[in-house]
Amino acid sequence: MDSQIQESSRTNEQNQQREQQPSRKQWSLHDFDIGRPLGKGKFGRVYLAREKKSKYIVALKVIFKEQIEKYRLHHQLRREMEIQSSLSHPNVLRLFGWFHDGERIFLILEYAHRGEIYRLLRKSGYLSEKQAATYIASLTQALAYCHDKHVIHRDIKPENLLLDFEGRLKIADFGWSVQSRSKRHTMCGTLDYLAPEMVENKAHDYAVDNWTLGVLCYEFLYGVPPFEAESQKDTFRRIMKVDLSFPPTPHVSAEAKNLISRLLVKDSSKRLSLQKIMEHPWIVKNASSMGTCSPALKQLDKILMEL
Ligand code: AMP
Repeated sequence: MDSQIQESSRTNEQNQQREQQPSRKQWSLHDFDIGRPLGKGKFGRVYLAREKKSKYIVALKVIFKEQIEKYRLHHQLRREMEIQSSLSHPNVLRLFGWFHDGERIFLILEYAHRGEIYRLLRKSGYLSEKQAATYIASLTQALAYCHDKHVIHRDIKPENLLLDFEGRLKIADFGWSVQSRSKRHTMCGTLDYLAPEMVENKAHDYAVDNWTLGVLCYEFLYGVPPFEAESQKDTFRRIMKVDLSFPPTPHVSAEAKNLISRLLVKDSSKRLSLQKIMEHPWIVKNASSMGTCSPALKQLDKILMEL
């Protein structure tokens, strides 16, 4: 039982077998040594923690029930937990389990040693083509896996992307994701990363995540999202017009711009498919097959040291 948490080192096949079994271990706070805070979210804090028996390091996310009740988010949280715990992919942050006490809900998460991509981006301004392509390829593969399982993420943004010890990208936070075989109508997420059909609150499907890959690719390379504006209204207008322009910077190649332009397409059926993204010349040329990028790691370590 105590080895349950160690399963991130097991094979995908083993993890898939476990997914089909009901969770046996009833966790409690007594099972963990709690370490330093890793960050603060909207509804609670995240701590470094170690499972006592196995000594396995995890991130423990503490959510206050009062907040969840106040904002009537229990359905969303339950959906997030069920979806995330059912996924097992090298680029999706694992949710090993959860438990609760009178006031709090605790999520036992895979620890992402190197933190948020957002922090790297804000510190360095923009990423190199090799780094950006490696992250876009990792994201594309993770999304292909999610879409295969009928999960649409709908809220991919740099704040929801974490990096593990080796610098491998991990999608975290499935708070706005849905498991769906049909088109959805609910508006959600941060405006900058939303596809036109979501901004307009129209029916949408998996292609919303493909649009977001275009937005992220742009932000990785230029440091700002493509439709950023002074007001939400202006961002809305720019998204609806697909008002896309590329600043004249020498570090972004024509191939990268080609990929972005083929993802930021208003008609969702005409956006490049996930498979075609993986075959795109810019990805083939720049993405590391390991999913990690050593110059990026050095840069990250420097940033972490400065904090
Ligand atoms: P959240 O409540 O998910 O927004 O998390 C708040 C902050 O905690 C994030 O911005 C991260 O910096 C940090 N954090 C969350 N989850 C993890 C994790 N699994 N590993 C490392 N740091 C995390």
